[in-house]
Amino acid sequence: FSTSAAIDEPINPSIQIDQTQLLINGQFVDAASGKTFPTLDPRTGDVIARVAEGDAEDINRAVAAARKAFDEGPWPKMTAYERSRIMLRFADLLEKHTEEVATLETWDNGKPYEQAAKIEIPMVVRMFRYYAGWADKIHGLTVPADGQHHVQTLHEPYGVAGLIIPWNFPLLLYSWKVGPALACGNTVVLKTAEQTPLSALYVSKLFHEAGLPPGVLNVVSGFGPTAGAALSSHMDVNKLSFTGSTATGKVVLGLAANSNLKPVTLELGGKSPFIVCKDADVDKAVDLAHSALFFNQGQCCCAGSRTLVHESLYDEFVEKAKVRALKRVVGDPFKTGIEQGPQIDNEQFQKILKYIRSGIESGATLESGGEQLGSKGYYIQPTVFSNVQDDMLIAKDEIFGPVQSISKFKDLNEAIKRANASSYGLAAGVFTQNLETANTLTRALRVGTVWINCYDIFDAAVPFGGFKMSGQGREKGIYGLSSYLQTKAVVTPLKNPAW
Ligand code: NAD
Repeated sequence: FSTSAAIDEPINPSIQIDQTQLLINGQFVDAASGKTFPTLDPRTGDVIARVAEGDAEDINRAVAAARKAFDEGPWPKMTAYERSRIMLRFADLLEKHTEEVATLETWDNGKPYEQAAKIEIPMVVRMFRYYAGWADKIHGLTVPADGQHHVQTLHEPYGVAGLIIPWNFPLLLYSWKVGPALACGNTVVLKTAEQTPLSALYVSKLFHEAGLPPGVLNVVSGFGPTAGAALSSHMDVNKLSFTGSTATGKVVLGLAANSNLKPVTLELGGKSPFIVCKDADVDKAVDLAHSALFFNQGQCCCAGSRTLVHESLYDEFVEKAKVRALKRVVGDPFKTGIEQGPQIDNEQFQKILKYIRSGIESGATLESGGEQLGSKGYYIQPTVFSNVQDDMLIAKDEIFGPVQSISKFKDLNEAIKRANASSYGLAAGVFTQNLETANTLTRALRVGTVWINCYDIFDAAVPFGGFKMSGQGREKGIYGLSSYLQTKAVVTPLKNPAW
């Protein structure tokens, strides 16, 4: 691994942090309580900035602003074309400020700057352009009902949408929710993750510069049990969309049910199988299995965290996977050529190291890594386990870190059975050159996305979401719109049915 000195001597980002307050009704304001909390640099554990800590009272203020902007307008009453143009202007501004935004994202989250600047921020821009394009293309239907009535449907926004996001892709997940919610004419209260509040505040200011009216998009930084719970149980929030862990998803769903029964979209955890069949190109499969797991420091809901390899390729695959992991370049995410930065915080860092110890204790073979890298911050060596058995914790739990678990299978039926033996069902990777094998697996796997001979392809138009306990509903693409629209049937008598 690259144990470069950069880990112990972090590069100083040259950016000033101006937005640390809550964004309510178009204004940056302090929390009602006056409280703040620190957001930390994962490279060192040092404080980057103190941020206003929103709680229930701030959620009330933000929901009131969003309510007024919805009920009195102008957002849902504006022409869809005007809404679209504001979103497009925002996308342009965001693109122009890619460097600053990517810097904030890397500083707060620890992800490689090159990845943020060249992949993620462009995806965020693309997502806003994609949904801006939908704003004026949301059509109802005319319905050929029995009897003498003209029947049509209107697809209308819910009203105030409460959006809760995690820390692993702060801005990307902002775009997955804010984009469709606003395109459909809803107003928004967004609760960011307490680990990564900075980038959403910065870009939401840009959104207002692009012409977004006050109250349409409110951003409350704060913690889950206070701000997040207040938003989930608010009686005046009409729709909730949550991304995070399955455990918190259950809590949020309960809060929504026990308050005003607001509909809830959930994007939750995963333990996704990556299946390497006997006819796969081993070198390509090793490379993709590596990035499917290690991308974003292993902190992906859809990480290919169960690498299942056909027995005929197994030994070669394990050896090559180990060599690839040993070559992975880990270091200060602001340096060029870095593939892996630090984990998000001490809690996740300790949790991952605990899972690594449990892997060793339960008898899996540690092929590479297994320890902290450097002496500062939350860096972990890219870790590969082979001989992983399905009943081991590392094979069952979502580790959310740079830990690859490889195990062996004999035939396709066994692979299908084991791949599906999980309470999660987010995604799967299939590696084969045989069309029939690909088709069989695609239909048999109980997951929301199947990537065949590829992984982590996240086009704005392609739906994403989970089967089973990985979630409810879909985000992105045309499917993502339906999370933010409700259908109204309109029935009018016909005087002269013949015409
Ligand atoms: P988390 O569930 O702890 O937190 C997610 C968000 O929920 C945060 O904003 C947090 O403050 C908030 N929250 C926490 N408790 C709450 C409560 N009681 N009421 C309301 N809100 C509350 O998850 P995390 O550790 O931040 O993120 C990692 C998890 O997210 C992983 O399990 C990962 O798989 C999942 N994830 C899923 C997707 C997806 O699209 N399926 C994408 C990214 C992350």
